[in-house]
Amino acid sequence: MMDQGSMPPWHPDVNPSSEAKEKFQEVARAYEVLSDPATRQRYDQFGEAGVSSSAAGGGGGYGQGVDLGDIFDSFFGGGGGGGGGRGRPRGPVAGDDLRFDLEVDFSTAAFGGEEKVRIRHMEKCGACAGDGVKPGAAVRTCDSCGGGGVVMQVTRTPLGNFQTQQQCPKCGGSGQAVDEYCGPCGGQGLVQKTKQVKISVPPGVEDGNKLRVRGEGDAGPKGGPSGDLYIFLKVKEDKRFRREGPEIYSDVSVPYVDAILGASTKVAVVDGEVEIKVPPGTQPGQVMRIKGKGAPRLGNASQRGDHYVTVKVQIPGSLSEEERGLVEQLRNAGKK
Ligand SMILES: [Zn+2]
Ligand SMILES: [Zn+2]
Repeated sequence: MMDQGSMPPWHPDVNPSSEAKEKFQEVARAYEVLSDPATRQRYDQFGEAGVSSSAAGGGGGYGQGVDLGDIFDSFFGGGGGGGGGRGRPRGPVAGDDLRFDLEVDFSTAAFGGEEKVRIRHMEKCGACAGDGVKPGAAVRTCDSCGGGGVVMQVTRTPLGNFQTQQQCPKCGGSGQAVDEYCGPCGGQGLVQKTKQVKISVPPGVEDGNKLRVRGEGDAGPKGGPSGDLYIFLKVKEDKRFRREGPEIYSDVSVPYVDAILGASTKVAVVDGEVEIKVPPGTQPGQVMRIKGKGAPRLGNASQRGDHYVTVKVQIPGSLSEEERGLVEQLRNAGKK
């Protein structure tokens, strides 16, 4: 079992050279296998959007971070006062979650390991510290909304006049007029970066498991928290083995005389080879259990499942003269 406390800490840039756009960071600190059925079900239903914070918080439509109070206010003209009297207590919007599909070897899935992935995500712009304003540029109060970020609009209807609030089109709701926006990010406060991330794959994962790497999704706009990175695992097949959870299944071929007389034979298991006894009179299709040679259990790697091996009895397609003579003797002996 991985001990959360002993995980390697977040490493800042290993290569801090100026040209190194690609950062290399350990994110082993923050993965978890999504085993929560509710979360998984949402993934299965909606894919990435199903668990993304923007889907949960209302990404489109009324806009991010709008709460019911805002909507009521806009319908009924609440708050009011105009001219920035009402603050806009919006929490910062979280960045998007990202999905990355990662194919891992059969043995990596069983025993865990480290994988390096290259991801592209949005990071806070270093030039403007995320506010989108060119350093040193003047920031004034928006003259269109007076800094409130909203403008009032009166709509005449047969039922009367409705006063509604709208996000200020001039400042986009920020309440600020900026003389010059940040160049590198175009005023967005976010820049796209390619990054190499080291993923610790825990022992016992299976095809379809997802790992969550917290905080490695897109950074949130205006200093909002980053989304998470979800690693979708695809486990490569190994022709020799079949796996069901911690249990491994395989076949072994045994010469017919060994099946009849008994013998020992080598069986490949996930981490090497073991020798097993084939007892005299072993039947075709007989299954033998090799205890503790399966895959580690997810979340409890010190416990391993079992390996089940099915005996295939090899019957030769042709016999030498000598063999034929002996088998005929055997047949005659059986008739007596
Ligand atoms: Zn910037
Ligand atoms: Zn404005």
